Amino acid sequence: MTEHESSAITETPWVNPRDPALALGADGLPARSRRAPQWVDVPDEKWNDWRWQLSNRVNTLDEVGQVLNLTDEEREGLTADDKFRVDITPYFASLIDPDDPNDPIRRQVIPLGREHEAFTAMMEDSLAEDRHSPVPGLVHRYPDRVLMLVTTQCASYCRYCTRSRIVGDPTQNFNRREHEAQLEYLRRTPQVRDVLISGGDGLTLAPKLLESIIRGIREIPHIEIIRIGSRVPVFLPQRVDDELCEMLARYHPLWINLHFNHPNEITPEVSRAVDKLSRAGIPIGNQSVLLAGVNDCVHIQRALVHKLVENRIRPYYLYQCDLVEGSGHFRTPVGKGLEIMEGLRGHTSGYAIPTYVIDAPGGGGKIPVMPNYLISYSDHKVVLRNYEGYITTYEEPETYQKHDQATCAYCQHERPEPGQSGVLGLLEGERMWIEPKGFEDIHSRGNTQAHRLQDPSKWVPFGVGAIEGRAGRPLPVLEAGTAETNGTKPRGATYGPGEEPRPREGEPTASAHGELL
Ligand SMILES: *Cc1c(COP(=O)(O)O)cnc(C)c1O
Ligand code: SF4
Repeated sequence: MTEHESSAITETPWVNPRDPALALGADGLPARSRRAPQWVDVPDEKWNDWRWQLSNRVNTLDEVGQVLNLTDEEREGLTADDKFRVDITPYFASLIDPDDPNDPIRRQVIPLGREHEAFTAMMEDSLAEDRHSPVPGLVHRYPDRVLMLVTTQCASYCRYCTRSRIVGDPTQNFNRREHEAQLEYLRRTPQVRDVLISGGDGLTLAPKLLESIIRGIREIPHIEIIRIGSRVPVFLPQRVDDELCEMLARYHPLWINLHFNHPNEITPEVSRAVDKLSRAGIPIGNQSVLLAGVNDCVHIQRALVHKLVENRIRPYYLYQCDLVEGSGHFRTPVGKGLEIMEGLRGHTSGYAIPTYVIDAPGGGGKIPVMPNYLISYSDHKVVLRNYEGYITTYEEPETYQKHDQATCAYCQHERPEPGQSGVLGLLEGERMWIEPKGFEDIHSRGNTQAHRLQDPSKWVPFGVGAIEGRAGRPLPVLEAGTAETNGTKPRGATYGPGEEPRPREGEPTASAHGELL
């Protein structure tokens, strides 16, 4: 290498290849997601302008039919008179595969005829929000925090929306007088320390109006944190501009929770938008809804949480689908959520694991699906208690179209992990205990020591053969320690990971060392 070459290398700014906000496309420019054919000629200034995206949303049968090849059931859904509002930004509609009726983004925003089917335990206001509203739009359910609905408008509309009774309806919108009444309630309610701005979607408000609401909250001395729950960065990442981020940063401490349900929603545009919010000092979380036909699959959920964490978004909640009109065909049994949680804990970083919650039918608040709160789980009914001791039941769906593993690309790319099956046999009463599978050769050591960590094949690196679904060739077992690092090891002995002998009576251990300190 000549001197000239080496100085050229040091002067080239280093681009972090892992940062999704810096991803480049094939043309060397910042990566962009697909545009549906009818929008390819729209100039970039327009396409990247959030106002253009909002005013060019698609909603009629004709407009949607130009973007997607519609099925009969979608035509039925789109022409139903009393349907929940349809409106999709061109950006978000372009992410849909026009020929795949099961596209996970499509299923979230394109109505089906069956959306009108009623189901057992269906309610209009399943969380009894209206009953917990001291003033219109302010839901005061928990002692120290409130939900403040500031608008009924969203950037696009989700078919399973829990607030479809008011959302999307411009005649039910909240105006300045109502915002003032909400603020007045907060001023005279000192126990409230946390205000969650939602709707609808507060980030669809005119920038000045949004700021005046946030400032109104910030001027109240006892309000410690402000949170915004928004799907705008998902439907309309163009809205997250410098001006918005600078404005939000003036009102810290402010947190944001987004709402991603599927990895396909995390595009380069989204990565850049979320990066901007993070740089404005806003911690970002994610709330997903467990939806049949969209994300009722442990492999999809794992891919989703990994992509979220890569974008510095912390998974917060995984919601059981509410008992709300229109959501019947999205509902899954609670066992599906438990299976997903089982497939995350231990298998991935703790950072990547949300809390699985059921929002209590009847309005008891969010209840984690965990032993303390899960009172009973029997045929068709899950009995839960909330933090106050309030008891509620969640009716399981009567029909559930099982996730199709054979056609799911995420299932096909499953990362094999030995010793992770067999719980079903226990639940069904075939046996009373199970031992991790794949360790038959070391069973002679006794059950307590036949631990899965002792199988060297577990350490086959992900992506080196294993991703193909073949158990790759195990790596050679490393020498456990050397003479320098492990003085107690007999010379020449080799141990597999986890096979080291336990300390004998009286021998120093790491924990004994800790006690001495
Ligand atoms: C979700 C929600 C909150 C916030 O709950 P966290 O568990 O603190 O995130 C507050 N009020 C209402 C009415 C809610 O639905
Ligand atoms: S963004 Fe939220 S409030 Fe708006 S339609 Fe979707 S779920 Fe409902």
